[in-house]
Amino acid sequence: MSTQVQTTLRSPEAFALARRAVDEMERAGVWPTPLNFELWIHWLGDPDGALGQEMTRLLGDGTAFTDGTAEMLAAEYLPRGRLSEEIRDAGAVLNRELSTVSEAIAKAQKSQAAYGQTLAGASAHLESSAEPSALLGVVSTLSRATTQVQAENATLEKRLETSTKEVARLREHLEQVRRDAMTDALTNLANRKAFDEELLRACDEAEKKRQPMSLAVLDIDHFKRFNDTWGHQTGDQVLRYVASVIGRISKAPRVAARYGGEEFAIIFPSESAALVEAALNQIREEIGSRALRRRSTNDELGAVTISGGLAQRRPGETGSSLLDRADEALYASKRAGRNKITNGERLEEAA
Ligand code: GH3
Ligand code: MG
Ligand code: MG
Repeated sequence: MSTQVQTTLRSPEAFALARRAVDEMERAGVWPTPLNFELWIHWLGDPDGALGQEMTRLLGDGTAFTDGTAEMLAAEYLPRGRLSEEIRDAGAVLNRELSTVSEAIAKAQKSQAAYGQTLAGASAHLESSAEPSALLGVVSTLSRATTQVQAENATLEKRLETSTKEVARLREHLEQVRRDAMTDALTNLANRKAFDEELLRACDEAEKKRQPMSLAVLDIDHFKRFNDTWGHQTGDQVLRYVASVIGRISKAPRVAARYGGEEFAIIFPSESAALVEAALNQIREEIGSRALRRRSTNDELGAVTISGGLAQRRPGETGSSLLDRADEALYASKRAGRNKITNGERLEEAA
């Protein structure tokens, strides 16, 4: 949450802001779900922030605001706050575990030291007296001390075991949180944040190893029309279907992501342009040839098609320049009538 919004929410304007959020959600025709409420509060509280600007744009161009849209915005603009909360909680648990363990260790050290003193005392006693009765006394003192030390060690062991389990659970939980922050909730593909990181990494690697690398951008054709005809819920189902085909054909080392509303992007590390084009056309043909049906009503929806643009990385080229070129190729596909993959290299040869 931006500090500006955080401050407003603890100020005299807080209730007015909350009421406005409810009114604005009603005006926009969205349900006041907790997530929508959070998004609207951010938007109204900080309209010029990154999220505010994106929402102004989305609501301005008449895009219907679905749960999918809300989840995407949240994944893109809200995860840091959530992540840091999770990390703070995890930090608190870790702290608790650490202090329990260090207390147990300190206690064990103390009783080890006391044991050492008992042993030293016993040996001094033995040197000064060889009486059987004194010997018996020493032996029983030692045996008591030994039992106590054993008990302390057993407690320490148990505490360490509990802590180890708790820390392992925590690590798993944080790993899940990290995965969630990198995943698009609607399609389960990587989200834009994850993709941007991966693109940086892939460009670095291609540069270092002097390997080829390609980037493709895919966009559903006339998706606005589809949504207008069949509704956004059905549109969301189509997004999931398209993503599933893209995901299946883009197994590692390829990386596929939902890059924006109905746009997808794929990184192809170290593959020839011919192989990349074949994979993209396979995706395009598979999606375009499937007659879709709405699950709930069994209505025939026809097929959706996708267009794509592809660019091969040049030595020294950054991810964002590569993205620009793939985007240009995508627009060439759109101009040429859609349901088409354009290789940007060919575009430039022709120019
Ligand atoms: P083009 O062939 O030129 O790409 O036409 P288009 O209608 O697909 O392009 P445009 O960018 O005008 O519209 C994209 C549409 O995608 C707008 C919106 O209705 C839809 N959309 C974006 N995100 C989502 C989403 O999360 N869910 C649903 N159902 N629709 C979405
Ligand atoms: Mg688009
Ligand atoms: Mg489109």
